[in-house]
Amino acid sequence: MTGPSVPVSDGHVHTRYCHHATGEMEEYVRAAVAAGLQELVFLEHMEAGVRYFESTWLTERDFDIYFEEGRRLQDKYGDTITISLGVEVGYSPTHREELLERLGSRQWDRIGVSYHFMPRPDGDLHLNLVSSKETNIHAIEKLGCEHVLENYFTTLTEAVEVLPGTVLCHLDAALRYQPGITINETHLGKIRPLLQAVRKKNMGLELNCSGFKIRSSPYPAPFIVKEAQALGIPLVPGSDAHSPEHVGRYFDLLPDYLDSL
Ligand SMILES: [Zn+2]
Ligand SMILES: [Zn+2]
Repeated sequence: MTGPSVPVSDGHVHTRYCHHATGEMEEYVRAAVAAGLQELVFLEHMEAGVRYFESTWLTERDFDIYFEEGRRLQDKYGDTITISLGVEVGYSPTHREELLERLGSRQWDRIGVSYHFMPRPDGDLHLNLVSSKETNIHAIEKLGCEHVLENYFTTLTEAVEVLPGTVLCHLDAALRYQPGITINETHLGKIRPLLQAVRKKNMGLELNCSGFKIRSSPYPAPFIVKEAQALGIPLVPGSDAHSPEHVGRYFDLLPDYLDSL
């Protein structure tokens, strides 16, 4: 009997188009080929209606260029590697119509669903829920971590129900830099309905290997992966690379990790 093997598809990479990653699309493709991957999925950031002090997503014009370059690379490297052009859409309850329209206007190979930016009750700048920046950490602390997490899971469940997603990204990466808070079994009451929504939509659950960088496991945590496996939800590995050298990162650790579950 053979156990899980090292994945040959990286389902989640970004490029310089999102303004917080580095590297051209072609550099990611070359890195994927060098790493022996058979598929590389670009999953570029789409957001709507976010008020923030910097732009960490693509404009529609950026997406035009992204598809143009992506098609060129598919032609050039098609015999060597499958290049998929997808999107990581950050949900916004107040801009769902806009997101649905923009998602519907293009042919995506994969639609990853995330929830990165939470509106604040005082109407000030959005909170970035996955950021390590002090300003976000403090503002989340002020609102109350458990309250923010509750909102996160509820809104993410709505996102899964509303958007035409194919994979749910980094489920428990929210508040990952927040001191003194961990997403654990006490949050199962919110996580189970989310996973059930994922199951109902026939979506996959991302095994986001960027988690290995700050803890010993990918996102989401083992107890969530086990719940997902019990529901028959497929696991989709991704590096969440924001620079070409991170393509396929930690994939060699996945077989042992999955065996240990
Ligand atoms: Zn990013
Ligand atoms: Zn993300």
